[in-house]
Amino acid sequence: MKPFVPQLVYIEPRALEYPLGQELKKKFEDMNIEIRETTSHNQIRGLPGDNEFQKYRTAKSTLVVGVRKTLKFDTSKPSAEYAIPLATGCMGHCHYCYLQTTLGSKPYIRTYVNLEEIFDAAKNYMAERAPEPTRFEAACTSDIVGLDHLTHSLKKTIEFMGESEHGLLRFVTKFHHVDHLLDARHNGKTRFRFSINSRYVIKNFEPGTSSFEERIEAARKVAGAGYPLGFIVAPIYVHEDWKEGYLELFKRLHESLQGVDTNGLTFELIQHRFTAPAKKVIQKNYPKTKLELDESKRKYKWGRYGIGKYVYQNEQAAELESTIRHYINDYFPQSEVQYFT
Ligand code: SF4
Repeated sequence: MKPFVPQLVYIEPRALEYPLGQELKKKFEDMNIEIRETTSHNQIRGLPGDNEFQKYRTAKSTLVVGVRKTLKFDTSKPSAEYAIPLATGCMGHCHYCYLQTTLGSKPYIRTYVNLEEIFDAAKNYMAERAPEPTRFEAACTSDIVGLDHLTHSLKKTIEFMGESEHGLLRFVTKFHHVDHLLDARHNGKTRFRFSINSRYVIKNFEPGTSSFEERIEAARKVAGAGYPLGFIVAPIYVHEDWKEGYLELFKRLHESLQGVDTNGLTFELIQHRFTAPAKKVIQKNYPKTKLELDESKRKYKWGRYGIGKYVYQNEQAAELESTIRHYINDYFPQSEVQYFT
């Protein structure tokens, strides 16, 4: 999997008032990427593509360099107290992606250049909870690692948290482009998590992301660089022979992590869910998907912003949870399962 290179870049004029905005403009000019100006990402029109299907794909490789105006952070339970907004959107094409609900009609990627303002807001959140630590999740609205080789804004955030007294950072990724993050001064305050799944799920539902082997190789590197390490198994999905599929996943993970200190390793478990708006986006943009989206087989759960989600029914969810916990206990007895949701 090659590192992401945008096909098209939009720059909001205000972004050029910040050093990172200017740096990115120069970088993309040097890379000979088409740059367009836009007053706001909401004004983006006329993306290349003959039909909606192609335009969706162009959008997913379009980068908007902008300024984050809302400096009120969303909450991010259960993995952290707050979501730190560094970017939105993703170049990956996971059919089940949680962003289908929120970014369905605007799937382009936005990166924010006013990092100092974002860090100041984070400091205020930390001060409110001090001396309790405050955890910030950087992957709520994007796969930030997939973009960071271009912007280094995650790297700066890692170092900002490393220097803070009460801040902790975490993020999850399906990309393996981590080399520039290995020398970041993280001070052990950033938990680096990789998303893993059964072969069936990765093969059928995760196009445009790094392979399992690439992710694990990257996990070994970041563990070697002293980062606390974790894995998110998401979405845990019922497919044919899923029990064998997930057993094989943990066997492979165990083999691949030989020699890595797995003390303090964490796992987070998230069952598959979908929303009504996401289903529409998925069926439109990935019409041949094998993803099961049958509401009648699911349980409806109230969700944020009034958008309910369909999760597995209680009995099936309990079986998923106990099976995966059992495998983790067998293969990684010293690790911690932080939650199942
Ligand atoms: Fe969505 Fe993550 Fe896949 Fe990107 S890598 S498309 S954010 S699930």
